[in-house]
Order: sequence, then structure tokens, then C-alpha cells
Amino acid sequence: MRFDVITIFPEYFESPLQVGALKKAQEKGLILVNVLNLRDFTFDKHKMVDDRPFGGGEGMVFKPEPLYRAIEKLRKEGNPYVIYLSPQGRLLSQEIVKELYEKKHLVLICGRYEGVDERIREHFIDDEISIGDYIVFGGEVAALVVIEAVSRLVPGVVGKKDSVEKETFSQGLLKYPQYTRPREFLGYKVPEILLSGDHKAIARWRHQKSLEITFKRRPDLLKKAPLSREDKDFLRKLGWKEDE
Ligand code: SAM
Repeated sequence: MRFDVITIFPEYFESPLQVGALKKAQEKGLILVNVLNLRDFTFDKHKMVDDRPFGGGEGMVFKPEPLYRAIEKLRKEGNPYVIYLSPQGRLLSQEIVKELYEKKHLVLICGRYEGVDERIREHFIDDEISIGDYIVFGGEVAALVVIEAVSRLVPGVVGKKDSVEKETFSQGLLKYPQYTRPREFLGYKVPEILLSGDHKAIARWRHQKSLEITFKRRPDLLKKAPLSREDKDFLRKLGWKEDE
């Protein structure tokens, strides 16, 4: 999986790409992350990447030429899927993460200030992705979210394939709760069933906990989740109404 990030702050990525699973994934050659400095695509003495908006108003806007040059360079190197990180984009979800993983080569454009010239958005990108309905300073943090979430799907990046397949959202439900030693902590006990050694009963308990937690915290997810008749019966007992 390849990621090319276009940013005016390449140093932003230094530490996150040098720790933990992302670092290992790069060392193993499972993912490649190139960080491009947008200023390297300017031709003027001051390496200007932004300018005042036509029509007046607050803030600065990324000029189209440097972005165009950076995107064109990367398009010549392959067949990347070009994304502008934007609060106006499609809201990132695990479904979209899977979709992006299938593209195999992503270009992630990080805006700053008032964003980028509209002509870049209209004519030179393939998609816009938002990390949530709030505004952050720049697209860098959003690009990192995409890199982390997509990299987790690359085989070998997460130790056990199982843990990716069973985690929250991957089955349309939130994940069941986890406990570790000690068995009793300040008087709070680990559920007996998890100590029983009965793997079938544990699997059933965990699935029911997933259903229960999803119903309590994110009932909206149940509309799309693949539910068996048994799941639905269980949920109805908790007060779930299918058509709500
Ligand atoms: N003026 C813009 C607007 O109202 O839509 C917001 C600009 S924001 C301060 C600067 C940059 O941060 C954006 O160009 C975008 O790249 C990034 N950004 C901010 N919030 C984001 C979000 N929720 N998701 C993805 N990127 C975001």
C-alpha cells in the first residue's frame, strides 16, 4: 500500500511515522509513505503556496499551481487515488477505509488556512474525506487517520488477522469488553464466564455483549449490521425496535 502526502508541514509526520506498528509496517515494506513538501512545487523566490482569496475575506487559500504540479508528478508515477482531506468531504467510516484500501495508492492532500483553490477540488482530485463534523487546523491529522486506518487492513501490519476482523465496526457492531489480570481489582470481578474455559459459551457471551453495547451506545449501527434471527430476538428483549 502506498501513500503520498502533500503538505506544507512535512515535519508533522516525522514522529507518528516513526513509532509502533506504522514504523514496523514501513520497515517490512508492507506500506510506503512519502511525504512531499508543497513548497518544492513552487517556482518563485519566496516559495509561496498561498494567496489572498478573490472577493476578499479572511485567511489565505492554497494556490492551484503548486498543488497541480505535485498531483501531476504523482499521477505520472502510477494510478493514484487523489484525496483532499476536507471537513466538507465524505465522513470517514470503516466501510470507506476498506474502499480506500482497495485503491492501493492514495495521494493525501493536506489543506491549511482557508483550504485550497476550488479549481483543484473540481478538476484534479478524486475524492474528499472528512474525519468528522468539526474543524481542525490542517489536513495533516486527517491524513494520519487515513494512513493508520487503511494500513491496519494491509495483511501483516496487525499481528493477528483475527483481531482486525473482530474489532469494532468490522462486523457492523461494537466490540465486546475485554478484561485482563487480576481476576479481582478493588473488589470488581471479571465476569465468571470468561474464566470458565468454555470457549463456545465465551463466544456466545461476547457476541451478545457486542449486540448489547451496540444497542446502548450506537443503535444506528444495528440498521446495517448483519443480524441473525437469534440476534434480533436477543435485542428485542433489551427493548430494541427493528424499524426505529
Ligand atoms: N475554511 C474551511 C471550511 O470552512 O470548510 C476549513 C479550513 S480548515 C481550517 C484547514 C484545513 O484543515 C482544510 O483545508 C482541511 O484540509 C483540514 N481540515 C479541517 N477540518 C477537517 C476535517 N474535519 N476533516 C478533514 N480535514 C479537515
